Amino acid sequence: MSLQVTSLASGSSGNCTVVRSPQGTLLVDCGLALKHVRTGLEELGIAEDQIAGIVVTHEHADHVGTLGIVAGGLKVPVYLNAGTAAMCKKRLVGREIELNVFQNGNAFEVGGILVEPFSIPHDGVDTVAFCFSSGQRRVGVATDFGHVTQLVRQKLLQCHSLVLESNYDRKKLLDSSRDWKLKQRILGQHGHLDNVDTMKLVAELIQHGHIEEICFAHLSEECNDPGLVLDLAQQTLATLKPSSEIKLQIAPRQSLSRTMLL
Ligand SMILES: [Zn+2]
Ligand SMILES: [Zn+2]
Repeated sequence: MSLQVTSLASGSSGNCTVVRSPQGTLLVDCGLALKHVRTGLEELGIAEDQIAGIVVTHEHADHVGTLGIVAGGLKVPVYLNAGTAAMCKKRLVGREIELNVFQNGNAFEVGGILVEPFSIPHDGVDTVAFCFSSGQRRVGVATDFGHVTQLVRQKLLQCHSLVLESNYDRKKLLDSSRDWKLKQRILGQHGHLDNVDTMKLVAELIQHGHIEEICFAHLSEECNDPGLVLDLAQQTLATLKPSSEIKLQIAPRQSLSRTMLL
């Protein structure tokens, strides 16, 4: 086994994903209470001193709301790009936290895991998604993007497992009581990915990549439904008839997902 990936929580009320290798563990984003993170790590049997760092996608509160508290509490370094670092200054000020600034497109290693940050289209100042690999096995963690770019395709085609956004159902969003400005933000090219676009991407990745397992993530509570996402994914698989089984799951909003083993 070279990597184990678990979502501790996923969605607009807070995100944190755990990526574990035999050498160490890292966290992707931190929008959960330190207590929630600690409970999750305990459930996974991960000791705090195994955490090698926190890598950050972008500055929205559901991804960095507790970054300073958690990085300070666990005494671990934070990895983020310069744009996101500038936006997170207030959350980190006054705490002794080691900050490591990466450049999008440049790989680095944390806890024995190769981390590849790449740009995605979202309304953060410089939002990234990540590919993580250990040996020949690779997982992509990609949420918070408004459309699928060539770079996203290219990066995710190399992955065996995915934590992938399927944010909203277009009709549910349009029918919702949200104000038009927010609807436009979500629907926009730098907003979030809807179920239809997610399934189109999944179809491409199954046809041309090596996908074995997908954990759909960052579902909108009001404008989506886990059952609907699973139905759409199963329909996609039924149409494509992949030669080997592809495991599917939905990352719960507040609790642990099933651990993906790579
Ligand atoms: Zn988000
Ligand atoms: Zn965001």
